[in-house]
Parts: sequence; C-alpha cells; structure tokens
Amino acid sequence: MRLLVTGGAGFIGSHIVDAEIDRGNEVAVVDNFSSGKRKNIQREAEIFEADIRDREKIFKIFENWKPTHVSHHAAQASVSVSVQHPQTDAVINIIGTLNILDACANFGVEHLVFASTGGAIYGEVPETSKASEDWTPKPQSPYAAAKATAEMYLEIYNKSYGLSYTTLRYANVYGPKQDPYGEAGVVAIFCERLIKDLPVILYARQKKGDNGCIRDYVFVKDVELVHSMAIRKKFTGTYNVSTGKGTSTLQVLQLISEALDKKPNIDFQGPRPGDLEVSILDNAKISKYFNNWTSFKDGIKETAEWFLFSHK
Ligand code: NAD
Repeated sequence: MRLLVTGGAGFIGSHIVDAEIDRGNEVAVVDNFSSGKRKNIQREAEIFEADIRDREKIFKIFENWKPTHVSHHAAQASVSVSVQHPQTDAVINIIGTLNILDACANFGVEHLVFASTGGAIYGEVPETSKASEDWTPKPQSPYAAAKATAEMYLEIYNKSYGLSYTTLRYANVYGPKQDPYGEAGVVAIFCERLIKDLPVILYARQKKGDNGCIRDYVFVKDVELVHSMAIRKKFTGTYNVSTGKGTSTLQVLQLISEALDKKPNIDFQGPRPGDLEVSILDNAKISKYFNNWTSFKDGIKETAEWFLFSHK
C-alpha cells in the first residue's frame, strides 16, 4: 500500500501515519500545517507541505507520488471557527475535499477513507437514544453541513466514477497528541490546565453549575485500528466510530484529576452557544468488525500520562 494521508500532521492523522509506517507501508503526508505539527509525526514519512485548496499542487503530488490509498483527514476541524467563518470552512471542507476526490478518481486510487463527524452530523441526540447511521443528518453548524455535503459527493463519485470509499463518522476522539489550545478537545484542555495548576472552565449543559454536556468519547488508538481496517477495504460505506456510551464533562474532569492526582479549580460557566447538549452514537454497525474499545478510564490514564510526560 502507498498511503497518502491528508492532514497527516494533525492529531488523528499523525497516529495513522506512524502506525501504518510501523506496519511496513509507504506513507506520505499532505498538510498545510495550519494546526498540524511536524513533531506529531514520529516516523519517516514523505511530507508534502500543501493546501488541499491548491488543486494544481494536489494533482502534481498525486501524479508524482502515485498513492494507491488515500486517507482524507485534512479539514478545518473546529465547529466554532465554522460558525465565525462559514465560507472558509466550506472552501476547505467542501472544495478542498472535491480536489482530493477528483485527484483520487483521476489517478486511479484504489480506496479512500473519509474522516467525517458523528459528533456533529446528527444534531441533538435525545438522551435515551443513540444516533445510528440511518438517521437523517441534521447539521447544526457550517462544519457539520460541509461534512454532510462531502459525504454526498462521495456517494456521487462512487456511482459516477467507481471511487471506492469508507466514511468514518468519528464521535469525540481523545488521546495523546491532541491540541490542548483549541476550544474543543476537552480532554486535552483539561489535562494541560490541571498539569499547569490553572482553573478549568466547565460549560453548562443547561444551567450554570450542572455537570455539562454529554458526549461519546472514543480513544484515538481505537480510531486508528478501525481506520486500518477501513483503508484495507474490510468494509465500505458509512460507519459511526464510537463507544456508544455517554459521559458528562464533569465526569471527564473527575477522571483526569484522579489520573493526575490534582484537585481541579472549576470555573462554572453557562451553556456555550452552539454546543449540542447530548451526542451519543450507536456503534452496532462497526462493532461487527471492531469491538475491543479501550475503557474510558484506561484511555484517560494513558492520555494524562502522555501529557505529563510531554511537559517534562
Ligand atoms: P487536526 O486539526 O489535528 O488535524 C487536521 C489537519 O489538517 C492538521 O494537521 C491541519 O494542519 C491540516 N489542514 C487543515 N486545513 C488544511 C488545508 N486546507 N490543507 C491541508 N491541510 C490542512 O484535527 P483532528 O482532530 O486530527 O481531525 C482530523 C479529521 O477528523 C478532520 O477531518 C476532522 O474534521 C475529523 N474529525 C475529528 C474529530 C475529533 O474528535 N478530533 C471528530 C470528528 C471528525
């Protein structure tokens, strides 16, 4: 396999790059380093500094490097940035994605994996249910709308040009290497702030002082293992990648403070505009292929230790 990973210097992409090199594959990265970092990639990958909006450059890379498989992870990945700048989001996440799809179709790529969002595409999920893949997407943000649009294009490219794909709808991914300085990625933010003895903000679900929103947290190494099967075409179509379990923000904070043995100084705030109250995804479909999910406690422990170590 000659695997090209767009966004390969980012949080999830860099785990894929390192693991696939360890499995003995040729791996190249396309990244504009807007949020990704070179140091995230710890193995010898071929690195192309390029923007997926630059169609000509992307086509040249495909023509010269000749990937057989493509993992498309490059994206404007922030919901709140998409709310502030919907056009920028659309140009990267829709037009940029079309550049990748066109390059795949033009240069005979065998299989493409697309990183979509399960955490945002279904909109608000009633607390007693879990969103499954056959639910009609109800995007509540430009980011989710762009991902849903890209998914529709994938289906069209599959029918029109025979482009083979797997769409992975990730829940809330957490783990080592996640950026702690964004507005999302609460596990990374809490780890960083607790280690530095800084107060942590807990946004309410409904009312200041409550336990916060409920999310379905999935460990990045499990995501990578699911991806490793998807890229080898073990399954095609659209899959949630999630544990199917809901955890409140306060529970996340408690587990991290236990793992780091630090007492948090909590700054309780009201609900953050645009945040979904609850998002839990049904994982029955993917569980036929992968069912060895890391427990949240173990994943948090490994993540907290990584953040501690990276501060030494
Ligand atoms: P990330 O920001 O760490 O990674 C995105 C990477 O894409 C970065 O390396 C960035 O530099 C690069 N990039 C951004 N715009 C680019 C452009 N125009 N051209 C080339 N490279 C560009 O984010 P992540 O959390 O690793 O997310 C990876 C993918 O998974 C994204 O597509 C994201 O939407 C999706 N996703 C992530 C989560 C999550 O919980 N982290 C959940 C659902 C979906």
